[in-house]
Amino acid sequence: MKRTFIVILAISLTVTVAAQEKTYPLPEIMTPGMTEFWTPQPKVVTPGDIRTNSAPSDAIVLFDGKNLDAWQSAEGGEAKWIVHDGVFTVNKPSGDIITKESFGSFQLHLEWCVPKNITGSSQARGNSGVFLQDKYEVQILDNYNNETYANGQAGSVYKQVIPLANAMRKPGEWNVYDIIYTAPIFNEDGTYRVAPTVTVIQNGIVLLNHFTIRGTTEYIGHPQVKPHGDGPIRLQAHGDRSEPISFRNIWLRKM
Ligand code: MG
Repeated sequence: MKRTFIVILAISLTVTVAAQEKTYPLPEIMTPGMTEFWTPQPKVVTPGDIRTNSAPSDAIVLFDGKNLDAWQSAEGGEAKWIVHDGVFTVNKPSGDIITKESFGSFQLHLEWCVPKNITGSSQARGNSGVFLQDKYEVQILDNYNNETYANGQAGSVYKQVIPLANAMRKPGEWNVYDIIYTAPIFNEDGTYRVAPTVTVIQNGIVLLNHFTIRGTTEYIGHPQVKPHGDGPIRLQAHGDRSEPISFRNIWLRKM
């Protein structure tokens, strides 16, 4: 009798354990459509026309050959650089100019030309610059057969990084900058939580590839980290004595 009871108990325990063993569904077999997302669709942007050098459809045009309405003097008041023949030329005595509008992250297209009769050497030869958010200078300089300190040549973030190439066209020919800039995010103590970064392409050649900017551009001393919000684009009227450079076809896309 006792033995029969033990056998029945053993069987019932086995059945109970078996009943508690769970089974789970196998992963579904993947099909191509499972990794294809149809929304949101990218917005449609009509590219500029290569033949007429026009801006993309969603760009903010900062200079279209006609006037400096998008700009003002960095000191305040009207921008007094000289518009002529569809371009504008630096007017050094009148100082830097800045955009009236301020920007965060952006893609900037800008064309610049060193005059054919340029004189001077090193930094005193076609020096200008484009300041991102009014803080960080991407150098503009005639480095065609003109050496200078490498971290101060065209396409450098001035005094912070040596460009990956010298992609200069000759004086008298137009250089094209395409600059992709990501604005910084700051901690409460004013340090960078996410530092600004910049990619610079000159004439189709990458000079800086997502370079992490260290701080403000300083002529003397190290870069400074100073909290800021959106800022204008600044173009530099450099104090060197060489013949002034010209700009054309400037547009920006907010990112
Ligand atoms: Mg400069």
